[in-house]
Amino acid sequence: MKKSTNWNPPLKIGLDIDGVVADFEMHLYKWFNLPTNRAIKWDDERIMDNFKKIEDNEEFWLSIPAIAKQSDLDFRPHRFVTARPIHNDWTTAWLKKQGFKDFELVTVGVDGKKSLHMDNLDVFVDDAIHNYLDVKDTPTKSLLLFCPHNRHYKTRDFIFHLNQIKQKFYGNNIVSN
Ligand SMILES: [Mg+2]
Repeated sequence: MKKSTNWNPPLKIGLDIDGVVADFEMHLYKWFNLPTNRAIKWDDERIMDNFKKIEDNEEFWLSIPAIAKQSDLDFRPHRFVTARPIHNDWTTAWLKKQGFKDFELVTVGVDGKKSLHMDNLDVFVDDAIHNYLDVKDTPTKSLLLFCPHNRHYKTRDFIFHLNQIKQKFYGNNIVSN
């Protein structure tokens, strides 16, 4: 009998943090008692006008609710790549609190290019269109997590939940190149 060939080696998956595993946006709105309707553009004024006030606030960063924690996911993220301009220690502590372990953490800064940190990753997921496009120029498969501020964008690279990454990665390899 022929052996099953369905097995694939684990994908090396990279994730953005805010808007992907951390609900930074809602946390900020609640922190400042602002309207909680979701932003329809990633640089919403409520975020831009208040960011400086929480940038150095450890309590703010450590108390962000999770969108997805390790126990929600069917894979272990290999690397997190974020633009948030804060101490890596705070981000690491938050990620560990959500059950993530043995991950790499890269902070590129607000103007940094995430595409420079895709080495050894099969897939990367972000919620911001500019990061999705930046990573799309690399050999790493770039996926966009669907949310209100990117919903008007047209691409076949949307996922609606992080547990669709594997299906999207292998599925795309079969139907297109
Ligand atoms: Mg993001």
